[in-house]
Amino acid sequence: MPITFDHVTYEYPTDGTPVPAVKDVSLEIADGSFVCVLGENGSGKSTLAKLMNGLLVPTDGDVRVDGASTNTEDEDALFAIRKKVGMVFQNPDNQMIASIIEDEIAFGPENLGVPREEIEERITYALEAVGMTQPRHHTPEKLSGGQKQRIAIASVLAMRPSTLVLDESTAMLDPKGRREVMEVIRELNRQGITIVLITHYMEETVRADRVIVMSEGAVVMDGTPAEIFGDTEAVRRYHLELPISDYLAEKLREAGLSLPHKIYDEKSLAEEICRSK
Ligand code: ADP
Ligand code: MG
Repeated sequence: MPITFDHVTYEYPTDGTPVPAVKDVSLEIADGSFVCVLGENGSGKSTLAKLMNGLLVPTDGDVRVDGASTNTEDEDALFAIRKKVGMVFQNPDNQMIASIIEDEIAFGPENLGVPREEIEERITYALEAVGMTQPRHHTPEKLSGGQKQRIAIASVLAMRPSTLVLDESTAMLDPKGRREVMEVIRELNRQGITIVLITHYMEETVRADRVIVMSEGAVVMDGTPAEIFGDTEAVRRYHLELPISDYLAEKLREAGLSLPHKIYDEKSLAEEICRSK
């Protein structure tokens, strides 16, 4: 069952006139989909993310996870929503609590009251899912940024979520760390986990099913990567960039190469160049 937003507005409480951070957003995140959220700083992406699992509750409208509203007094219902929709944030260091990797992963399930043997299974599952099976008794301190972020993802996976919301989780990583994390995310999606990825890196969106663009709290575009990046005027208007391979394709076209207009990743662009020579 999906996550649905029905005319959702969110205003942070202020002393003066409240300015909505999210304005009248209606959308549905389908099960198993891979959705990217783009938009300038301050456009409302993080607020949208926090509305997805009840960390924030709409000022107006309703968010539902598997049919259950996040606007509820029922602690158990809210807990169930938080379990289903896991969040990974930008800075891995702020997300680490324990000094041993496996304790870090166990923290969530322990709080859920999961029995000890099952916690062991979940630690194994979660570390395998992020490709970090080796150093489970170590401290996370010496890990690279990419490895730390994979541990952060593993600790969310140990809660057995159906959806992962990643809020600029690759922003602080070097290119290698970013690639590692993106590979893990794609594999989790192949296994059926719904992915909502907030990012500034356009190349991360190329394999998404869907791209949502936000501007001033509103959803201003919603389509496939090809639809979004094919609209060059809108790309300019919302200060997006083309993914690097598409930028290259545009330049090659300008230089006289006859490349079909579509969305490329590195591999498909390389193949297309070989075909067109
Ligand atoms: P993004 O993640 O796209 O950068 P945010 O969702 O963080 O955007 O912010 C959207 C708007 O809400 C911005 O105008 C921002 O200044 C405001 N905002 C974000 N967090 C708070 C907060 N805790 N209190 C007041 N205003 C906030
Ligand atoms: Mg943000």
